[in-house]
Order: sequence, then structure tokens, then C-alpha cells
Amino acid sequence: MTSPTAPTIAVIGGGVSGLTAARTLRRQLGADADILVLEAYDRLGGKLKTVDFADGPVDMGAEAFLTRRTGLAALVDELGLSAELRVPSGLHSCFYVDGQMVDAPARTIMGIPARGADVAGIVSAETAARIDAEATAEPLAWSVGDDVNVGTLVRSRYGGDAVARLVSPMLGGVYSASADSLGLRATVPALAAVFDDLASAGEPVRLSTAVSRLLAEREDAARALAATGEKPAPVFNSFVHGYRALIRALAEDADADIRLNTQVESVSRWRGRFWLEPVGEVDAVVVATPAPTAAVLLGDVAPEAGTLLGGIDLASSVVVGMRFDTDDGLPQNSGVLLGTDAPGVQAKAFTFSSRKWPHLAERGGAFVRASFGTLADASLVDADDRTLIGYAVEDLATVTGFTARPVETFVQRWWGGLPSYGEGHLDRITAVRDVLADSPRVALAGSVLQGVGVPACADSGRDAALKIIDDLSQS
Ligand SMILES: Cc1cc2nc3c(=O)[nH]c(=O)nc-3n(C[C@H](O)[C@H](O)[C@H](O)COP(=O)(O)OP(=O)(O)OC[C@H]3O[C@@H](n4cnc5c(N)ncnc54)[C@H](O)[C@@H]3O)c2cc1C
Repeated sequence: MTSPTAPTIAVIGGGVSGLTAARTLRRQLGADADILVLEAYDRLGGKLKTVDFADGPVDMGAEAFLTRRTGLAALVDELGLSAELRVPSGLHSCFYVDGQMVDAPARTIMGIPARGADVAGIVSAETAARIDAEATAEPLAWSVGDDVNVGTLVRSRYGGDAVARLVSPMLGGVYSASADSLGLRATVPALAAVFDDLASAGEPVRLSTAVSRLLAEREDAARALAATGEKPAPVFNSFVHGYRALIRALAEDADADIRLNTQVESVSRWRGRFWLEPVGEVDAVVVATPAPTAAVLLGDVAPEAGTLLGGIDLASSVVVGMRFDTDDGLPQNSGVLLGTDAPGVQAKAFTFSSRKWPHLAERGGAFVRASFGTLADASLVDADDRTLIGYAVEDLATVTGFTARPVETFVQRWWGGLPSYGEGHLDRITAVRDVLADSPRVALAGSVLQGVGVPACADSGRDAALKIIDDLSQS
């Protein structure tokens, strides 16, 4: 079917991870390589989906990316898309606490404070006092390399109020999961690293001490930057015409044989090559699907990796996009996170997209995204559109007092949208990598590996392609 110099490589999954892998393969292997992108659905993009509203496109999955991880910015530049990038307004986000919107506290690490005073408007006075008292409490039992459930950690040191009102809403905004489903080392790695430092120096390990150290480092860095007269770079970027621009550019640059509506059912080794059902024979495979599907697809060629991936849960969620013809009364904030103990509301967060992104504000009116569903409770993902839109409108009015009716809506369900980075996740992923390192011409990419964010996914796609190229050069 092909000569050794012109391999046939299948990339399974047409999300950002798979498309970045395909594009890297094309750039490294040149025009001769036969690159297939096999996508189960009738469109590329996976969790990146841009929807056309009457006044312009809006993202209904990921809407932004963190600029701290620089690989994606470089990729965007190479793709000629830098002019598409936009920065946020800088308006603050809020928490919804006891029926009020209050500014998100500035001095926390993923919602974890060092002092009660920094979160006084959000947690009870007792909890604030308990946070302060932690500095002299019995130290944590911690050995270098340990991991812990974030909810268990924060509850044991600061109490349940801090978990429900601060940490779960913050982490939930990224992982669609409460702090009780997430591991510290994978989701707040800087804090785990400070715990390690304290333990290896023989110093007492306390949560407030470690958070204080991280906050001090952050503030020192901000002061040093201010002294240079430079402005801090924006933390987030988004695409003026939505993520669609990135997906299209990646697909174009990959110049691959893209097959939509092609669900790969199995991958097996066959006569020194691979047999993909129902596609046929190829020389190498990049699996770039969510973890449970990757588990099945790797089940034959790297069974131990398959078993490890099969143990990873996925969180489902729904985004309801709402366009309004007025923004009168919509708070001057970028959005609001609802605590897991917020009574009488179904939504877990609202993004006031037209406040957060000036390029959306320019269209006039307002745009709001409501989010529902968590790893622990995905029941609303199955609710019908009418119910979800009803909750979105009612909850928005309850939380903000903004009572306008949307003139256009879109309901996007994300079944299995995000992998849950539970306790021990990084060790599990290291074990998966070890297995795949010994599995020639098979690679894995996707949100389960290096982080759920788009930049991490793109990096994982590039790395998977480089592994395949290395393996091919040795065979
Ligand atoms: C609601 C939501 C909001 C988010 N917001 C942000 C954000 O603002 N910023 C950010 O950085 N990240 C965000 N993320 C995370 C980010 O969007 C995802 O982690 C990332 O897009 C995943 O990309 P991927 O290519 O790894 O996987 P996916 O996008 O899931 O792509 C995998 C593809 O594989 C296909 N597939 C599955 N099985 C098969 C099969 N058997 N055969 C063929 N194809 C198959 C699927 O159809 C899919 O297209 C968000 C995620 C969600 C759900």
C-alpha cells in the first residue's frame, strides 16, 4: 500500500489534539506522507465549536486559552492567525454568595486562601478564623511526591465552607468537577510542589504557609514587572471569529485525508502494520480521542495503557448561549461562579461573554453563557432544551437581577466533555506513557495527558506526532 519513505499514518479524532498531531506529521514528513484524520462526527473540532448567531460567531465549547503555556501562541503565529487574537476586558469575575454577587478574591491559589481576611465576604466568620488558625495547627503529614484529594485537604484544614464556596466553584470552572473529585498534584501542581519543598527541607507543611509562599512569589513577580514599566501580558486570549479559525487553519495545514463520519472501532497489529476497523491498513496510529474511547482503541495494541485509561471518569456539562438585544442591568463583571451550596439555582456558572470580551460587546446587546452539570451530577445534561433555557434565564435573573429575555439561544451538550484529574492522575499518566514508549508507532494525544486546556492538548498532539516520527525513523 505504501513505501517505507511514504508511511500511512492514521490520526483518530479530529479535535485540536488530533489536528495538531496531523499538522506536525505533515510538516515533519513532507508532502509524500499519507496522513488520515478519522473523525466519528460530521465536523472537526471536538470540544471546540463555534456557532453562528445572528450578529456573529460565538464559541459554545472552549472560548479562550491561557497564554502562559506558550506553545499554542507559537502555533497560532505559524498558522498566520495572530491578528485573530483578542484580549479580555479585564473586568473581574464574581462569586454568588448568600444571594449576593461578590468580587472573586484576588489573593487565593485556585480559590485556596492563606488568610481569613482575604475571603471574609465569602466564607463565614468561623471559617475565616479557622483559616487563620491553620498557621499554628498540627502540620500535615506529607512526604515528597504525595498526592491528596483537593476537597479532603481543604476541608480538613479550613472546613467544608471553604470547599463549597471557594475551591469547588474555581476548580469546577475548569474541570466541571468539584474539589472532591480532583487531585492536588494534577490540578494545583504549584501547591503540591511547595508541599514537597517544605517536606524536603524538614519544615512543617501547612496549607496556609504554602499558599502564602505562592502568593508572595506571584506578588514579587508582579512588582518586578511593574518596576520595568512593562504591562503584564493578558492571561487569556480568544479568537475574534471563534475557535473555528484555528480548526480550519490546522486542517488546511495538515493537508490530510480527512474522513468525517468515520468512527474507528478497533486497532490491532497486523503483519507488522496496523489494521483499523473499518478503515484498513496503516503504518502508525495517533489516538486523539477522549480517555474511555482511547482505552478501547488501545485495548489490543497496548492493553495496560488501555486499562489505565479506562479508569478515568469524564465530566459532562451543558452550555446555554443566550443573545439579548440589551445589556441594561447586566453586571459590569466578566461572569459569576456559583458555590456548590447556592440554594435555588441550577446553573454552576455564568460567563457574561459580552462584558468579558470587547469584540463581542461591539456587536451591541449582550451575550451570556450559562453552564450546568458536574462530574457528580450530570442529570441536567439530559434535560430538554426548553427546560435548560428556562433555568438559564431564571437563574440569571435570580443571581444578577438582569431580567431581559434572550432573542436567540443555543444549547450545547458536552457528554463526557472533560476528563477528571483525580488523585494519582499524574502517576497514572506516567504509567500510560511508559507503556506507550514500548509500543512502537502508536501514540496518544488529548486532554487526559498534559492538562485539559487547549494549549496542553495542542502540545500533546505535537508530542504524539514527534513520537511517531521517531518510531518510524527506527523501524
Ligand atoms: C464546555 C467546555 C468549555 C471549555 N473551555 C475551555 C476554555 O475556555 N479554554 C481551554 O483551554 N479549554 C477549555 N476546555 C477544554 C478543551 O476544550 C478540551 O480539553 C479540548 O478541546 C479537547 O481537545 P481534544 O482534541 O483532546 O479532544 P476532543 O475535542 O474531545 O476531540 C476528540 C475527537 O475524537 C472524536 N472521536 C471520539 N471517538 C472516536 C472514534 N472512535 N473514531 C473517530 N473519532 C473519534 C470525537 O468526535 C472528537 O471530535 C473546555 C471544555 C469544555 C467541554
